[in-house]
Amino acid sequence: MATSKQMKRIAEFIEPLRVEPGSKVELARDFDPRYKADFLKKKDGVELLRTGVAMLADYQARLAAQDTYGVLVVLQALDAGGKDGTIRHVMSGVNPQGVSVHGFKVPSSTELDHDYLWRYACALPRRGEIGIFNRSHYEEVLVVRVHPENLVRQRLPKKSRGGDVWDRRYREINDWERYLVDNGFKVVKLFLNLSKEEQRIRFLKRLDLPEKNWKFSAADARERQRWDDYQKAFSEMLSNTSTEWAPWYVVPADRKWFARICASAVIADALFEIDPRYPTVGDDTRRDLAEARKELEAEAPKGAAPDPFLAQLEKEKDSPTSS
Ligand code: AMP
Ligand code: MG
Repeated sequence: MATSKQMKRIAEFIEPLRVEPGSKVELARDFDPRYKADFLKKKDGVELLRTGVAMLADYQARLAAQDTYGVLVVLQALDAGGKDGTIRHVMSGVNPQGVSVHGFKVPSSTELDHDYLWRYACALPRRGEIGIFNRSHYEEVLVVRVHPENLVRQRLPKKSRGGDVWDRRYREINDWERYLVDNGFKVVKLFLNLSKEEQRIRFLKRLDLPEKNWKFSAADARERQRWDDYQKAFSEMLSNTSTEWAPWYVVPADRKWFARICASAVIADALFEIDPRYPTVGDDTRRDLAEARKELEAEAPKGAAPDPFLAQLEKEKDSPTSS
């Protein structure tokens, strides 16, 4: 379990990444994709990431055992922003049974037959689980906004397509998230903020390395031409949907190692807030356990220790260095 000193350090570390609810964000002015808290070198970073990953594993186990709260991690980024690698690294230590990951692509015809939040609702984590959205309901105010033909495909009635459709969506998303939080599902929102130059370099890498070719599509290059429109859509999204109950964190994404530390720190901080505990047993159960112990110990074969594990524990207690 994390110490209160560790918790405080993490809280301070992520503070500059948090989008103050109600503030008006202009990405280029307010967040630097190359920021890396000055005191950190990559070498320290590797160590810190290892600690973060171990902490996440510990808290995820408690979350699952307590089975009361769930966590939804929302990951948004531009192409080549590092979503896949972040998920791989940050979740590398946790029990796969306790996590779910969902990616969202261009909606299918079945999905388009429903309201726009439907497919996201279907993929929400259960209690005790950490669910990751690789892209999320925020695509509905990003790609759909930058390419309005996506909105046409959603076949909304005329009244619901009206002038303030984006304001309405921000409100609906905020309300939906508040509903989730009120019902025990914490919503953690991470935007991986990549610079245009770093995207150019990462795209080229995908072209240079044959095993990365599959990650590149002509559509990615086309989207890059809409860079400014996306920056604007992201800025609007951050300004309108960072709330007290589900704030956005803008993660500087140009350095992958730093982005991963930030992501694990923000998720860890959310878990600290939940503070999940292993369930403890009541008096009745304790009596049952004692009864079961007696029976099992009585079954020990001749010459065997009644409880070899307990014997081992006691031995270790006597000479703690020998273990
Ligand atoms: P990728 O994550 O690289 O596999 O690409 C998924 C693609 O699906 C991206 O180009 C997204 O912009 C697109 N996409 C995701 N959600 C939506 C949506 N709601 N409407 C339209 N396109 C979407
Ligand atoms: Mg892609």
